[in-house]
Amino acid sequence: MPDNLPEELLGVQSQMATFVDAQLRLTDEPLTTQHQRVREASKQAGFFFKTQPVEFGGAPAGALELTLLREMLATANSPLAASVFGPGPGVLHATEGTLRKNYLEPVLRGDKRGAFGFTEPDSAPRPTYAVVDGDDLLITGVKSYVTGGATADFVSILVNAEDVNGEKLGTAMVAVDTQAQGVTIEREFSSMEGGGHVSMRFDQVRVSQQNVIGKIGEGMPRALGNIGNVRLMVSAQAMGMCLFALEYVENHLKAPHRSGSPLGDREGVRLRYADMRIETYVARSALYRTARLVDEGGNTVNEIIATKVFCTEAAGRVIDMGVQLVGGQALVTGHPLELLYRQVRSLRLVEGASDLLRINLVKGRLEMDKGRV
Ligand SMILES: Cc1cc2nc3c(=O)[nH]c(=O)nc-3n(C[C@H](O)[C@H](O)[C@H](O)COP(=O)(O)OP(=O)(O)OC[C@H]3O[C@@H](n4cnc5c(N)ncnc54)[C@H](O)[C@@H]3O)c2cc1C
Repeated sequence: MPDNLPEELLGVQSQMATFVDAQLRLTDEPLTTQHQRVREASKQAGFFFKTQPVEFGGAPAGALELTLLREMLATANSPLAASVFGPGPGVLHATEGTLRKNYLEPVLRGDKRGAFGFTEPDSAPRPTYAVVDGDDLLITGVKSYVTGGATADFVSILVNAEDVNGEKLGTAMVAVDTQAQGVTIEREFSSMEGGGHVSMRFDQVRVSQQNVIGKIGEGMPRALGNIGNVRLMVSAQAMGMCLFALEYVENHLKAPHRSGSPLGDREGVRLRYADMRIETYVARSALYRTARLVDEGGNTVNEIIATKVFCTEAAGRVIDMGVQLVGGQALVTGHPLELLYRQVRSLRLVEGASDLLRINLVKGRLEMDKGRV
């Protein structure tokens, strides 16, 4: 697994294995120095550019290659893995003019950092809206869960646009500078997997219409434009976590146990470990099949949804059972499985909560007569 990789991907796989061994082990140096070292090494090795467009000096890899590499990086289970790939264009892909010059280019160079604002608070009187005022927009509302918002230079947010008379114009994605007048951070918080987030308020924030990503009316498709790639990335990450857990648990099952014989000698334990392996095998089979379908082109929305739901839910079960078989020590703060257990939980919510994805998939079948799944 993954089976029948083309020759060139076998080469890339072996290069990444060497890179992981050489670069991703934590040392005593400060973490920022280590991240910088990994970024430089990744540029040298060419991995850094695999998520960046050709016109910016990138060498974008296909879905199968990225899946393979992302799974390997997650299997390494090192925080340094986050510095291997360079920043991608995200929602700013294919932008021109001001957006390209002031946001996309600096992001790809690593000079600016963007965040994404979609989720709204439950208590908001109305979703974030933008009134068209001449050449500008006046934005009001709150985005409640902006990852990396505290250190971002700008945030790309989804708004409902309307004219001065309240006439609805549709949704729009807008890049807003976090230093703009009227933008405030209401609350900083962290989530159990280790992410840092903010709730951000927009109070009549004046933004040029040149900052609209795409056109007014195109907000939702723009916001979701890259979502398939991101969901495939999350699925690969989930499978890398499973591979790490499988190896960890296998070593534990073979090791001496206080009962006098290794835990792996017991049939009941073997049944549980078999399920961990079976779930991982089936989920990875779906992951690699879907990555190949994406590379072939055509509509793969439902295949990606099925893969994201299945891989992230399977990973939740696999890591939960890993904790169970390793026992109480796996819950001690700082244990690798304790960390994985916290990390894997968020994957069923980010980039589409499981049940909402299920509903989308069935909508495709029942109402649109689309999708093979
Ligand atoms: C680690 C992390 C990072 C995040 N980063 C960001 C970010 O950078 N930017 C951002 O905008 N957001 C971010 N989010 C928020 C994330 O996108 C949302 O949590 C997610 O989309 C779910 O939305 P919600 O929390 O509002 O839950 P809700 O939409 O309220 O849904 C909660 C649950 O209710 C059920 N449910 C809801 N609607 C339906 C329905 N129609 N039918 C059936 N069941 C339903 C589902 O079980 C669902 O899981 C992040 C979340 C996490 C955990």
